[in-house]
Amino acid sequence: MTDPVPHRAEIVVDVAAIRHNVRILKDLVSVDGPVQMMTVVKADGYGHGMVEAAEAAREGGADWLGVATIDEALALRAAGDQGPLLCWLSAPGDDFAAAVAAGVELTAYTVAELDEVAAVGDARVQLKLDTGLSRGGAPRAEWQELFAAAAAHEAAGRVRVTGIWSHFAASDEPTHPANDAQEADFREALRLAEAAGLDPDVTHLANSAAAILRPSSHFDLVRCGIASYGLDPAPGVSPRLGLRPAMTVRARLLMSKAISAGDGVSYGHTWLADRDTTVGVVPVGYAEGILRAAGNTASVWVEDSLRPILGRVCMDQFVVGLHGELPRPGTDVVLFGPGDLGEPTAQDWAEAVGTISYEIVTRLGGRLARRHV
Ligand code: PLP
Repeated sequence: MTDPVPHRAEIVVDVAAIRHNVRILKDLVSVDGPVQMMTVVKADGYGHGMVEAAEAAREGGADWLGVATIDEALALRAAGDQGPLLCWLSAPGDDFAAAVAAGVELTAYTVAELDEVAAVGDARVQLKLDTGLSRGGAPRAEWQELFAAAAAHEAAGRVRVTGIWSHFAASDEPTHPANDAQEADFREALRLAEAAGLDPDVTHLANSAAAILRPSSHFDLVRCGIASYGLDPAPGVSPRLGLRPAMTVRARLLMSKAISAGDGVSYGHTWLADRDTTVGVVPVGYAEGILRAAGNTASVWVEDSLRPILGRVCMDQFVVGLHGELPRPGTDVVLFGPGDLGEPTAQDWAEAVGTISYEIVTRLGGRLARRHV
């Protein structure tokens, strides 16, 4: 944490932590028999760098990678990944032929989508069912029709149905009644699929929270995103398992200075000094994805202390309270990291601003440099 920061502000990603987390998760879900691990690397590897995260995940034992878009899948192939890879958010008119040629498994939600993929020929397709999230996936009323169409395409040799899957709505709340209902519906759907003559290689339902907290939902594989990056899918879970947050965001202090009692800080003067004190300027802002809501709520780590963000976060900078100290320009400021030294974590930021750690890490960008170590 004391290394000089080569850039004004940067994201440092510890790829060994991703490797470690994937290995721990895979061991955990395989205690009662082998369960395949899919590491979800969509959205630029949850902000950690898709290609680097994918490499670390494979090294940690990921059997599969999961992405949202065909573009993401093709970027992984272009970077050299050749393993099982599932994509689940294609839109009509997407380049299904390129995906099939690259050995990417596609996901169909509807008969129309299945027909479009089948027209390419030789596609490996997974069927996504809506068991209660009411987002993507075939609604219950269309399951039988989708299964029948899939079986017909398979019989004609146009597609191979390699998987059937669904996604939880509330697995981060283990006692939420939707979990039992979704799992029961998914089991029923699998019975209907079998009756329609489908015999997929993999069935899957669990994301990180369910993978960790709900062994009954493991089926053949689990799709872990957030926990692979060491962040908490549900309160307190990741630290208990020894998962390590992979991302640190740091910057160099631009300047520090004295202000007087009664002075207002940043736009709108939403923070007023109640005594003579000192403040510092950190050169990152909402253009880098730092939430404006972090003003007067989140803290950062300056030298060896937690320091509050004072007033509003601006486009390119924010102000921290320094309690009378005047650290030199260039002093290392850690916005969040693994928390080992006392610095805030992405989870602390999420709680401070009223969001989830997923949003904290995936929205970073702008002029932030990113380095993998
Ligand atoms: N599966 C699907 C379909 C997803 O969209 C996601 C992420 O949102 C995941 C799995 C991974 O979820 P988590 O990051 O909670 O493990």
